[in-house]
Amino acid sequence: MPIFGRRSLSRLDTVDKRLVEVLKDAIRVYDFTIICGHRNEAAQNEAFATGTSKKRFPESKHNEFPSRAVDVAPWPIDWHDELAFARLWGIIEACAFRRGLRLRWGGDWDSDGSSTDQSFMDIGHLEIVE
Ligand SMILES: [Zn+2]
Repeated sequence: MPIFGRRSLSRLDTVDKRLVEVLKDAIRVYDFTIICGHRNEAAQNEAFATGTSKKRFPESKHNEFPSRAVDVAPWPIDWHDELAFARLWGIIEACAFRRGLRLRWGGDWDSDGSSTDQSFMDIGHLEIVE
């Protein structure tokens, strides 16, 4: 059974506990890593400048503390394997449903079940909707 590594666990320390519980359920069935939890002002500005985020500080849910957004990636990481990201999202979504938490995925921002109508793909991103 996969478990989170030390770096993933320290990043999870910055994430909303409800989301952490969901991710701990999910890793029992599929191995993945935590790329980013909370993002401070400098890190958010860097993400905006490099184009990995479309939002400026403090507009992103990553900028809240604890963070209501998290970036994840299947392990080992292959950013070109979008199917692996989609599979991971499906597992996390199901785990969140069981815990009564609603999430939104950066591979389907409008949550209509389709990834073909996206203007900005962020397949590792997920966030709490409330
Ligand atoms: Zn993100």
